[in-house]
Amino acid sequence: MTRIRKITVGVWEVNCYTLSDEYGSCILIDPGEAPATIDEKLVIPNRHRPIAIIATHGHLDHIGGAKYFTEKYAAPLYVHERDIELAKNATFWANVFGTPGITDPEKIERLCDGVMTIDKFFFEIIHTPGHTGGGICLYLKEMGVVFTGDSLFYRAVGRSDRPGLDAGGHYMLLESIRQRLFGLPDKTIVFPGHGRITTIGYERQHNPFLT
Ligand SMILES: [Zn+2]
Ligand SMILES: [Zn+2]
Repeated sequence: MTRIRKITVGVWEVNCYTLSDEYGSCILIDPGEAPATIDEKLVIPNRHRPIAIIATHGHLDHIGGAKYFTEKYAAPLYVHERDIELAKNATFWANVFGTPGITDPEKIERLCDGVMTIDKFFFEIIHTPGHTGGGICLYLKEMGVVFTGDSLFYRAVGRSDRPGLDAGGHYMLLESIRQRLFGLPDKTIVFPGHGRITTIGYERQHNPFLT
């Protein structure tokens, strides 16, 4: 059975999640800040063994701790192909902010839209550009959950005024959410990159950016 666990860390209060199976294999989603804390409080106590790291996009608060895990657990890092450049820039910002950054930009595994299997984990990558060009959401249909990174939050959406964003990012993000995420069932639980958990149905009705 797949389980989801969450820890909120760092100055940007980013939500880092694990998807784990009953044998301890896990996928780490968005280990951007305080990787040693994530390891000590989430990974080690639950006897998790990271087999992959997925960044919902290339911003430092979601990718800055990846190196700690790619090196300690020999787990590959996955980023959408359109955020690879941004991920490379994260190495520079990692030095500024004192996080480990990423190991080797040439070794990043590329994500693209569509269904994907890693070990026993089966999910769908939904490309939702707008916050960044390569922002993705991870949808687990059987569990009825979606990890939305900085695309969709509780009653909010991601900013579109940061480096690495496409022109017209805000409009593009709203279209991404309406066309891709709002097609999911209402009861789908939304695990965002920051802030509290919500549902697709709630956001469709109450999100002030989208109603
Ligand atoms: Zn972001
Ligand atoms: Zn963020």
